[in-house]
Amino acid sequence: METEVNMKIVGYIVAAILIFFGVLFIWGAFSSTGSPGWIVIGLISTGLGLVIVFWVNRHAAAAVNSSQNVTYKIDLPGNVSMDTMKCKSCGGTLTSDAISMVNGAPMVTCPYCHTTYQLTEEPKW
Ligand SMILES: [Zn+2]
Repeated sequence: METEVNMKIVGYIVAAILIFFGVLFIWGAFSSTGSPGWIVIGLISTGLGLVIVFWVNRHAAAAVNSSQNVTYKIDLPGNVSMDTMKCKSCGGTLTSDAISMVNGAPMVTCPYCHTTYQLTEEPKW
């Protein structure tokens, strides 16, 4: 997660530098000491910066989507039926809201006694 954020920040910084120098080159091309060829360099640099911004945005959105999939797509081990799920320690009926995926394993957080434990293959309730 932190890697994603760092990559996004680095991407934006690189893009900002490219766009900044790109604009400077285009601007410089119109000055007395500038050359028309600078417009091409400026456009390439600015375009590259915009591509990076676009790519980072899309990549970040994809990362958010995939993490949401992990949260909502809960694969219950074995043939655990949601109707018969009860808390190990207090026996309270658990809903799907009580289950969350932690490091790829389904974790139960009981809303009644606030016990947190991993859902196992062999439910004893
Ligand atoms: Zn409980």
